[in-house]
Amino acid sequence: MSTTAELRTITHWIAGKPAESAGDRYGDVYDPAIGRVAARVALASPQDVDRAVAAAKAAFPAWRDTSLAKRVEIMFAFRELLRRHADEFAHLIASEHGKPPSDAAGEIARGLEVVELACALPLMLKGEFSEQVSRNIDVHSLHQPLGVCAGITPFNFPAMVPLWMFPVALACGNTFVLKPSERDPSASLLLARVLKEAGLPDGVFNVVHGDKAAVDALLDHTDVAAVSFVGSTPIARYIYARGAAAGKRVQALGGAKNHLVAMPDADLGAVADALTSSAFGSTGQRCMAISAAVAVGDVGDRLVPALRERMAKLRVGPATDPQAELGPLVSKDAKARVEGLIAQGLAEGATLVVDGRAIRISGHEGGFFVGPTLFDHVTPSMEIYRQEIFGPVLVVLRVGSLDDAIALIDHNAYGNGAAIFTNDGPSARYFERNAGAGMIGVNVPIPVPVGSYSFGGWKNSLFGDQHVYGPEGFRFYTQSKVITSRWSEIEHPGVNLRFPGGQS
Ligand code: NAD
Repeated sequence: MSTTAELRTITHWIAGKPAESAGDRYGDVYDPAIGRVAARVALASPQDVDRAVAAAKAAFPAWRDTSLAKRVEIMFAFRELLRRHADEFAHLIASEHGKPPSDAAGEIARGLEVVELACALPLMLKGEFSEQVSRNIDVHSLHQPLGVCAGITPFNFPAMVPLWMFPVALACGNTFVLKPSERDPSASLLLARVLKEAGLPDGVFNVVHGDKAAVDALLDHTDVAAVSFVGSTPIARYIYARGAAAGKRVQALGGAKNHLVAMPDADLGAVADALTSSAFGSTGQRCMAISAAVAVGDVGDRLVPALRERMAKLRVGPATDPQAELGPLVSKDAKARVEGLIAQGLAEGATLVVDGRAIRISGHEGGFFVGPTLFDHVTPSMEIYRQEIFGPVLVVLRVGSLDDAIALIDHNAYGNGAAIFTNDGPSARYFERNAGAGMIGVNVPIPVPVGSYSFGGWKNSLFGDQHVYGPEGFRFYTQSKVITSRWSEIEHPGVNLRFPGGQS
């Protein structure tokens, strides 16, 4: 075990360069495959947050005035550099998060979509113009930046989730302060370096690491205009309430329990493949992971053996094993929590078909590994169904009809994504219209919208009314202004106290 003195320190990034903390609080950053501390991260004090917000505030007037053409040039350069650094990102993420580099590469690819959308900023920021709404009167609208925006992000996608936010915020002319997860903080600093290399002026993008103290300082800061949050539901609710109470615009995306409905007519092999990939990819630590399989009619009896067969072939291992398909959980606490929920599922009477608790990875005995786990005959009242497990645990519920499946989804507290697998068009259309979730997949298990649409759930999966990225991201990061103007050399309309109408 390294001593504190030998550990690498991960610092903040303020005004275009690394910045030490004013205080002396640090958090441990683990290598989750061996269960040891690999670095320490500075935990910002309110004074550190103040410095970052001040840098972003100082950079705002010049960035707001930077031409759209110049902003596009920087976004294009950023896109190219992100692609060039993709491998570096993948290995850095793998070392702190634990997911295989091939999986981490996927998050860069999905983040790139948002950067590509940001490159279309002249189109996305266009206002409207109406000529002659009244005699010699024209009306036009503008979408103007808000000022300093903050992003608070989770551990599970340390590059992609920040990339859902700041490319759009910057494209709109805002400056940004990112507070990434303290569990895998390094990717955020690589993003900052790459942005600088792309030509982004100093102070436009800043990073403060930290925990609740840093988050609260951002939420209460009078110079922060808007907050985007992605993380668990209890914290999302808190962020939304505290940020809104401080008068800020807030979007707060929370946790999930995503269902996949398997219809009797569906291709069973395709369903089992999709469930195995989407439940166990990234060790179940994806907000769009499918964690509840809903077997309609007699599907369950065929589906469970097909899942068991596929799960037996999955390779669990550290990110350094090129054959590994899923890695460890992010922390010791996460492992203990997931194992506790598996024990609770058994105690509540569910059938444990595959138990991942006993897994041992040779040479990595201290790692936070839990193997793929499958429960059958799960009921809606069980905790393994009610809670977001955020681990490699898939539960199978059996229902009689498509309407029963839709009712189950409706009664669940979360509403991020839901999918149906069927070959029947009317069933698919009925599901699409009636299932209570923000993102629907039809024969697609993880329906994460492409960059040109927006991402967001319903119910406890989103607090706020605008989704992230896509057109709604551009609306979130701008405020509208409508200008009514009269330009006429000869007119002197005189005094008239009547409320102005449109018929003159
Ligand atoms: P988390 O809620 O623990 O942490 C998210 C962020 O909030 C981090 O930056 C963390 O430092 C901060 N935070 C934690 N506790 C806080 C507190 N008490 N006060 C203020 N700030 C606090 O989430 P996580 O464990 O990092 O990420 C996993 C969760 O994120 C899961 O619930 C997952 O579903 C969710 N998630 C949702 C989406 C989505 O799009 N809806 C996407 C990714 C992850």
